[in-house]
Amino acid sequence: MTSTLATATHAIDPKSQAKYRQAIVAIQKAKELLAEIATDNEIGAFFHYTEAAGHLQQAIEHLVYAKPSALCRTCQGDGIHNNMTCFQCKGHGWLPAGVVKTQKS
Ligand SMILES: [Zn+2]
Repeated sequence: MTSTLATATHAIDPKSQAKYRQAIVAIQKAKELLAEIATDNEIGAFFHYTEAAGHLQQAIEHLVYAKPSALCRTCQGDGIHNNMTCFQCKGHGWLPAGVVKTQKS
């Protein structure tokens, strides 16, 4: 069985984080394709670019928020704090970028 600390360390490894970056790049490429469709008078007449692109932008924002970013300082990556599931990381041992960002500001 893998320890929570090992899982947390894996989560914040650059190789794991790369999947988030790859997903964002793929979505950005999809947005470019949508713009091409929307501006093509022959095929884009019924395509609502703004709405579709907005959904893709939301997906990017979710990915930016959720990307594993740092070991949890409350439990030091164990997922346990005061003999209970860590309230900060919900037992995962790591925190997403969106939470880490709010802690620094
Ligand atoms: Zn924690």
